[in-house]
Amino acid sequence: QVRVRFPPSPTGNLHVGNVRSALFNYAFARHHGGTFVLRIEDTDAARSTEESYRGVLESLRWLGLDWDEGPEKGGPHEPYLQSQRGHLYRDVVERLLASGHAYRCYCTKEEQDAREAARPKGGPSGYDGHCRELTAEQVAGFEAEGRSPVVRVRVPDGEIGFDDLVRGRVSFDGAHVPDYVVVRANGDPLYTLVNPVDDALMGITHVLRGEDLLSSTPRQIVLYRALAELGVGPGRTPRFGHLPIVMGEGNRRLSKRDAGSGLAEYRERGFLPEGLLNYLALLGWGIAEDRDVFTLAEMVAAFDIRKVNANPARFDPKKAEAINAEHIRMLTDAELTRHLVPFLAGAGLVGQPPAPEQQARLEAVVPLVRERMTTLSEIVAMAGFLFTADEDLQIDPGAGLGAKPDDVHVLRAAIGVLAELADWRHEEIQAALREALVDGLGIKPKFAFAPVRVAITGRKVSPPLFESMELLGRTSSLLRLQSALA
Ligand code: GLU
Repeated sequence: QVRVRFPPSPTGNLHVGNVRSALFNYAFARHHGGTFVLRIEDTDAARSTEESYRGVLESLRWLGLDWDEGPEKGGPHEPYLQSQRGHLYRDVVERLLASGHAYRCYCTKEEQDAREAARPKGGPSGYDGHCRELTAEQVAGFEAEGRSPVVRVRVPDGEIGFDDLVRGRVSFDGAHVPDYVVVRANGDPLYTLVNPVDDALMGITHVLRGEDLLSSTPRQIVLYRALAELGVGPGRTPRFGHLPIVMGEGNRRLSKRDAGSGLAEYRERGFLPEGLLNYLALLGWGIAEDRDVFTLAEMVAAFDIRKVNANPARFDPKKAEAINAEHIRMLTDAELTRHLVPFLAGAGLVGQPPAPEQQARLEAVVPLVRERMTTLSEIVAMAGFLFTADEDLQIDPGAGLGAKPDDVHVLRAAIGVLAELADWRHEEIQAALREALVDGLGIKPKFAFAPVRVAITGRKVSPPLFESMELLGRTSSLLRLQSALA
């Protein structure tokens, strides 16, 4: 039975690297009919926030990465918030201490630094195991001095190796892995403890996570082995798969602080969850050589962790947009309409729900814009003119209206012919304008229609002009042409 976990720390907003990890775990679990566990790693009380925790749950729901066990779902290993599992960690630490897998360390930072400075260069570095074999007298002495110990895990010498599902054989020399701290002097358990302890207690079979965590894996393996000896959990070390580094601009690792790294940004810009997930899947995985657009269900069906590429993946925002555009095109007109409403409503252009005439207009414009959109929020700039009162229409000063001496003649002629038009349909509008402006005034189509477009939509680029005018109606169209003249 496959059991995987997504264990975010609620210390900020999810970033695309987190989401990629969640996605690969989800796809792996679903592909194998396994269980996807959500565990909240909130032992760092100073940095964890309720808001961030809520945000994590909400984001996963938005993405459609539903978890089988975890907060609000429950499951056999409750609670799934580490802040509520302190008693379990205390118990494990006592057993690690009693069995000699861990020990209390009383060294001060200064003492460690002084010893470190005296060691030969090029040999092992980091904590030197000084407190491994303290006598009862030494311990009593430190306690009498009022020192509070940390707890360290004893890392045995010898090879610590594992077969990574992505990278193949990975091996570390235990002699170079220092005994590491798992409990702070104030008694707080650290990530180094609670992450593997919970993986063991929750029966996690596969740990799929970013390559940035690779260096913590040998230490965790030491702990898993100790836990297996103590009978904590099912007694086997999970398989690991370290997902490739994601590179941002300038061949640097994409960091949380980089623009374009936060999930919220994509949501605000109007990425579809499926579009974003599709793009993130490509950061290390592919469905086929000649194909990069697929749905989550298709990914689940095809997912194979062994096909994940170990090489760094480059994050390309343009490619992400292009993939998202493909997913927008996969929506039906009705679905796309529904997705666009919150963006127009957020800009104050329509009600939520839209008034019936707003809804009708939106439904009519969707087929005109769907092929041009890369993100949903673009609807505001593209079609805002259809949901703006004539007197409130802002003309983009950069659109060049009035720049050409002929613009005035063009607008006058357009008003003249449109006021008389028998049938207010886009074919007729187009024919009449072409006859009046291009044939009548002898102006090239490009220059003839540009001022009309700006007057009607406020912008140089817009959905198809004649269809837009049909949607807008004769009265508004004429009013706008007239105000552009004024
Ligand atoms: N809480 C850790 C993080 O968010 C989990 C890392 C892991 O997957 O082991 O980085």
